[in-house]
Amino acid sequence: MKKNRLGIIGGGQLGMFTCIAAKKKNIKSIILSEAEEFSAKNFCDKYFISDFKNLNNLDKFIDSADYFTIETENIPISIIHYIEKKKKVFPCSKVIEIAQNRLKEKKFLNSINGINTTEYLQPKNFGDFKYASKNFNYSCILKSKELGYDGKGQYKINKNNLDFFKEFNFNNFILEKIVDFKKEISVIVVKSNANTINYPIVENIHKKSILRESFYPSKVNKKIKSEAITKSFEIADQISLNGVLAIEMFILKNDQILINELAPRPHNSGHWSMDACNESQYDNLINSIFFNDLIPPQVRAKCRMVNLIGNDYKKIKSLKKKYRCYDYYKKEIRDSRKMGHYIILDQLNS
Ligand code: AMP
Repeated sequence: MKKNRLGIIGGGQLGMFTCIAAKKKNIKSIILSEAEEFSAKNFCDKYFISDFKNLNNLDKFIDSADYFTIETENIPISIIHYIEKKKKVFPCSKVIEIAQNRLKEKKFLNSINGINTTEYLQPKNFGDFKYASKNFNYSCILKSKELGYDGKGQYKINKNNLDFFKEFNFNNFILEKIVDFKKEISVIVVKSNANTINYPIVENIHKKSILRESFYPSKVNKKIKSEAITKSFEIADQISLNGVLAIEMFILKNDQILINELAPRPHNSGHWSMDACNESQYDNLINSIFFNDLIPPQVRAKCRMVNLIGNDYKKIKSLKKKYRCYDYYKKEIRDSRKMGHYIILDQLNS
């Protein structure tokens, strides 16, 4: 029987765009969501609303699809292992396990020849933490190892706020040195058995640890571009990627590239590919799962993607008159919540 059903764990905007890409290629999408209301609800062919850990429902979800993917790495790894006993997950549990834990991620990245991350320490207790903070000249961030995204679970340290952390369980955190980067960029790599492709580098602007804008082309020189792509391919190879991996990087003032974070799924900084490329990151995710042959992206336009975060969303009606806007159909506006995005295109030769 032809395999044409994709199970997606999570139903947020990344899941929603994956469903849309799947439909274009005659693939049915089935969502497993813990939330009652979710962005992908009206875009999937079927959904299950359930605690991920409810094995009864998980079995039904597994039976309902041929292959599986994720739209967030914040899923208990035991669930991925459970699915993998029966069916294939893209990316596989090894990739997800590394990317969902900052410590594992940093250890993995630094173990690769030529790849470096920011410096970090693993304080074991409050005394250790004070010592480590001093070691970093109080210019550091305490980051939760797991479940941190969009700045959640992150605390900027200074000389005067140390006591706030007295009761923290430091086993759940790493302490990371703040770097004075000149740019943030990301590269999205997609790998199948047949080939590996990358989306061109985009430059990212974060505010309050949340991605605000991504734009193409990035204003980085050729040498950095080539190094960033080489590093991305090396990481994809070493992690044995199957599917999509977004690699976020810092470029320091001396042009050194540090890897900040891995996301084993389509990424916010790749939304632009839906409008400015012949084949988006979501399309190529579907290709990697069902068709093996990936389609290298051809860029048709310069592009700026701007996130609508929290109350920014209220501008969507007026923005729609001018730009291509994407609504994530979230029921409630919350501070720091990604509610939608819009796209500004420009001619490539302008
Ligand atoms: P993260 O969730 O770790 O990707 O952090 C979100 C954003 O916070 C990054 O994209 C940076 O803008 C900023 N940031 C995180 N870690 C550092 C660091 N070690 N030094 C400087 N800025 C950082």
